[in-house]
Amino acid sequence: MSEPQFVCKAVKSPRGAVVSEIDWADGHRGVYPHEILRGYCPCAGCQGHSGEIQFVKPSKIQLELEDIKPVGNYALALFWFDGHSSGIYSYRYLRALCQCNECRTGSPTATQGVMPRI
Ligand SMILES: [Zn+2]
Ligand SMILES: [Zn+2]
Repeated sequence: MSEPQFVCKAVKSPRGAVVSEIDWADGHRGVYPHEILRGYCPCAGCQGHSGEIQFVKPSKIQLELEDIKPVGNYALALFWFDGHSSGIYSYRYLRALCQCNECRTGSPTATQGVMPRI
């Protein structure tokens, strides 16, 4: 059984938006500025093969999302408008990237620090 805090129920990402939202099964509303999503893209192209995920500051044209698709029942694949689509974001990882006021406090993302691969 999946823990509800790691089950994505719905994604809101209106075309042209720079912030997406994820509704989690435990009732949490996750807030995801695209700068954080793209900057913490976990793919090998962005990160190399290091065990940790660094923030890679994206340029403005890299911030528009074209599509978001579920991968199995554990992750989302993000399709960026510039053609980048190799990042698979596990639900656990997305939960750790949440930028709502509650989650951001104390998170490495608040200072653009490294994130573990989860
Ligand atoms: Zn990437
Ligand atoms: Zn949150």
